[in-house]
Amino acid sequence: MQSGQADMTTIEARLQAVRARIATAAAACSREAADISLLAVSKTWPADRVEAAATAGQRAFGENYVQEAVGKIDTLAALGLEWHFIGPLQSNKSREVATRFDWIHSVDRLKLAQRLSAQRGDGQAPLNVCVQVNISGEASKSGVPPAEALALARAVHALPGLRLRGLMGVPEPTDDTTLQRRRFATLREILTTLQAEGLPVDTLSMGMSHDLEAAIAEGATIVRVGTAIFGERDYPPPSTT
Ligand SMILES: *Cc1c(COP(=O)(O)O)cnc(C)c1O
Repeated sequence: MQSGQADMTTIEARLQAVRARIATAAAACSREAADISLLAVSKTWPADRVEAAATAGQRAFGENYVQEAVGKIDTLAALGLEWHFIGPLQSNKSREVATRFDWIHSVDRLKLAQRLSAQRGDGQAPLNVCVQVNISGEASKSGVPPAEALALARAVHALPGLRLRGLMGVPEPTDDTTLQRRRFATLREILTTLQAEGLPVDTLSMGMSHDLEAAIAEGATIVRVGTAIFGERDYPPPSTT
């Protein structure tokens, strides 16, 4: 195990390296790096690693498991961090996401959207929402099929407790950069359709540690990066969210 100080140095250096990758990828397609947000995916990592990243300037964190996340949100409440829920969500766990998070990237059905809207606190700003679209063909069951994204986005836009922001996608893991680009282009094209339909969307949440360059080339505005910041996740995730 590393000491806390060593963790701090490592996480800070890795964060700098990821920011440099984002800047290089943005420059390569004539985009502004400032238009691409880095979401640090801290699932499975304890609160002290999140705190180390926060000390190194990172403000937004992504989590996949409700109970684990709420523990960190409570522990780090004084830091005023921004929390994004990015994993599959069972409807019976929706209340804590509705009340404790700033964003959810993984809305994939109307019933979940309706619950999140109803459960969002009266005094809270609407919960920022991305509709998750299945852009990996048969490889994943997460997300709505592309043909259903517009209808779900319209429904989210109509719900008072939610603020529709855009789309999220997770392609199948591959080193084939042409395939990566094609999957991300699919999500970008769906966002363009939503905009043409008059929906006020500004967010494409796509790209992870191994494919953020391809995602940025296709228009990502949020990249979700875990391993490249915190290291390999070395124990299995909890079996329940
Ligand atoms: C775990 C996870 C990430 C981060 O993946 P890395 O390969 O560790 O960067 C991004 N998005 C989602 C939805 C995840 O579950």
